[in-house]
Amino acid sequence: MMRAALIALSQNGAAKRFVLSNPIARRTARRFVAGEGLDDALEAARAANDAGMKVSLDFLGENVASREDAERAREMYFGVFDRIAREKLDANVSLKLTQLGLDFGADFCLEQMLPIVKHAESLRNFVRIDMEGSAYTQRTVDMALNLRAQSPAVGTVMQAYLRRTEADVRALLAASCRMRLCKGAYLEPPDISFAEKKDVDANYVRLMQMLLPSGVYHGIATHDPAMIAATKQFAAEKGIAKDKFEFQMLYGIRPDLQRELIREGYNMRVYIPYGSDWFPYFMRRLAERPANLVFILRNIFR
Ligand SMILES: Cc1cc2nc3c(=O)[nH]c(=O)nc-3n(C[C@H](O)[C@H](O)[C@H](O)COP(=O)(O)OP(=O)(O)OC[C@H]3O[C@@H](n4cnc5c(N)ncnc54)[C@H](O)[C@@H]3O)c2cc1C
Repeated sequence: MMRAALIALSQNGAAKRFVLSNPIARRTARRFVAGEGLDDALEAARAANDAGMKVSLDFLGENVASREDAERAREMYFGVFDRIAREKLDANVSLKLTQLGLDFGADFCLEQMLPIVKHAESLRNFVRIDMEGSAYTQRTVDMALNLRAQSPAVGTVMQAYLRRTEADVRALLAASCRMRLCKGAYLEPPDISFAEKKDVDANYVRLMQMLLPSGVYHGIATHDPAMIAATKQFAAEKGIAKDKFEFQMLYGIRPDLQRELIREGYNMRVYIPYGSDWFPYFMRRLAERPANLVFILRNIFR
């Protein structure tokens, strides 16, 4: 229930105003968000690279209010790729289609996305399309397939909590599309999703076992030691080398585990969000671990 309430609040204007104006909440958010500007994110990316980790930069933003906002986001991503190249960082970009105008139609969104993907390709870089709530799943898969047919520099994300995901994984594998496997961060109804953690986890392992032997370079995104252990064991049993896939984790979450995987010789990518529109992202992180919320509330009431 707590998870559901927090995810619902992530869309709530009053909650947003309260959290943005609260210094303790803002300080807690900094644990998950590198800062508001690109320079903050690049500094965090440099530190991650120095620690042996790859990076994915996420300029926070979703469901933009106008076409002009989507066009601004497109221009901004050109600049991000140029800075990554200039500063020789080992970093790619993760973005959300609703930041690039998906709410204004798939054709409009494709017009924003294709130049970004082509620019990334020209710099030998890569665009990861994050997966949003289920209202967008089909359109995101369609967009990923469309873009993948035009460039290898694009991939997307699969959510193990959705019942449809196995079929989506098959379709994307047939197109040699790179995927990030995660559990899923939104609130989904039980007819289309697994409600129990044990079922999500079982599906996660099943999907991981489809992805790893495919010969395509995928990302296994989780902080769950059981999912990580299952991945290591499966890769070892099948003779899949450590450099044929990567683990991925979020900035500020389980840095100990991130370092451990590096020490063990696995590829590790840290997802670094930045920007001023951090409220929905922050609420989803609180929903994943209500202990984070208890920490904030205790400090506010103190
Ligand atoms: C790189 C990356 C990219 C992602 N991209 C997407 C995406 O595009 N779409 C999407 O729907 N979801 C995305 N997610 C989020 C994902 O779906 C899960 O919501 C999130 O990763 C928590 O699931 P888990 O696999 O870590 O396992 P869980 O079972 O939720 O957590 C396992 C353990 O991890 C730790 N942990 C997990 N979350 C937190 C937290 N917020 N704070 C502190 N500790 C925590 C705790 O120790 C917990 O016991 C992404 C996750 C990662 C790592």
